Amino acid sequence: MRPEHQKQEHTSSYYAASVNEVTDYPELEGAKSVDICVVGAGFTGVATALTLAERGFSVALIEANRIGWGASGRNGGQIINGMSGLAKLRKKHGDGIADMLWDLRWRGNEIIYDRIEKYGIQCDVKSGYVEVAPKPKQTAWFEEYAEERERHNFPYKYEIWDREETCSALGTEAFHGGFACFRDGHVHPLNLCIGEARAAHELGVQIFEQSPVVSIEHGKRPKVRTANGYVEADSVVLAGNAYSRLEPKHLSNLVFPAGSYIIATEPLPDDVVNEINPRDVAVCDVNEVVDYYRLSADKRLLYGGACNYSGRDPANIKSYILPRMLKVYPQLENVRIDYEWGGRIGVVLNRVIAAGRINNNVYYSHGYSGHGVCATHVMGEIMADAVSGTMERYDLFAGLEHMRVPGTQWIGNQLIALGMLFYKMKDRL
Ligand SMILES: Cc1cc2nc3c(=O)[nH]c(=O)nc-3n(C[C@H](O)[C@H](O)[C@H](O)COP(=O)(O)OP(=O)(O)OC[C@H]3O[C@@H](n4cnc5c(N)ncnc54)[C@H](O)[C@@H]3O)c2cc1C
Repeated sequence: MRPEHQKQEHTSSYYAASVNEVTDYPELEGAKSVDICVVGAGFTGVATALTLAERGFSVALIEANRIGWGASGRNGGQIINGMSGLAKLRKKHGDGIADMLWDLRWRGNEIIYDRIEKYGIQCDVKSGYVEVAPKPKQTAWFEEYAEERERHNFPYKYEIWDREETCSALGTEAFHGGFACFRDGHVHPLNLCIGEARAAHELGVQIFEQSPVVSIEHGKRPKVRTANGYVEADSVVLAGNAYSRLEPKHLSNLVFPAGSYIIATEPLPDDVVNEINPRDVAVCDVNEVVDYYRLSADKRLLYGGACNYSGRDPANIKSYILPRMLKVYPQLENVRIDYEWGGRIGVVLNRVIAAGRINNNVYYSHGYSGHGVCATHVMGEIMADAVSGTMERYDLFAGLEHMRVPGTQWIGNQLIALGMLFYKMKDRL
């Protein structure tokens, strides 16, 4: 059996250890027939399925492992507005789409908060995200962020923090300033994904776990096959992102898997919490290769970063990430690390989300290049629009040519790693 066809349980993360629901949807067996079949139950797949179910379509959602098993259930949980590649879309399609892009940029936040409220999803959602500047010159961008919001009459709270405010709000001298936005925030991502899948199921979506899709038989109504069954549908949406190996003729060497890694400390005492993050915000630096952190609901510090673009995971995640955490918080030197894990991000060479279709009715949306919590929810809506014939926002993405690296996936990963080495050096200068 090829590795991508082996069924797995969740990785041993803090999130998997604190889920509200251990999902146990059945494996796909026999023949099923629906309007739309979605492959992959991370945020992209679940958001697509839920949007379609809300609109009255019959949907099957097939997951190789468990709901949220991939990046969606392992990430930093930072709800950050925006989508990778919007500036390139504006360059290609012109200033006429500026308002549409601004709406796209914030649509993910809106979908997430609405669904948490509408379906009563318990996922520790918090308001507040700060982008911090490890170097003095990076603080200049924050004025631009504020001006942009002013131009759009942005109705939510935001603040520019100088060095002193940043030091006192985050209990560290590592940063020279910050931009705090309270429309962004943070969440327990696995509980969000599982809660959204539960909502979809209650609206009639047939969910199958432990059911790796092995092939797609194209035609007027494609058949999506697993080892023990198939789903026939008018349209298919592929949402396997960095973990997908389906449709290699069309999709190989388009999206490259890069690793990002997180450690979780033991729960921290109140005095430490009050020193390092009393406002309980999510934090991410502005570097090209980012470090990010936040507190969990039970006050662990979840510290992540060190994206690895070569396709090789570090032998020991803790010893890879811990020095980075201690550089920001040397006072946590004696704190115990309870969890360490990693996951795969899908990186696209030009950083624009790779969305399109094969043979008219097999759609895909892959490659969020790092920031996907919000973007996946927007793309889920755009995929749901597209399969039902509303193409305006889909065409923005699908109309863009993507470069594919000739040769093996390994060559592509080395090229990306080389490019990122340049950015890592730039970050250090
Ligand atoms: C460590 C880490 C930290 C991150 N931090 C943040 C953050 O703080 N904020 C943010 O915005 N973004 C973050 N990201 C990125 C974000 O998590 C992703 O962009 C997003 O979750 C991608 O969602 P997805 O549904 O497209 O893919 P995934 O969540 O990876 O889901 C793909 C699913 O498809 C399934 N699948 C694949 N092939 C098949 C098949 N053949 N048959 C059936 N199922 C299949 C997989 O099992 C998997 O469950 C982070 C990513 C990582 C790895």
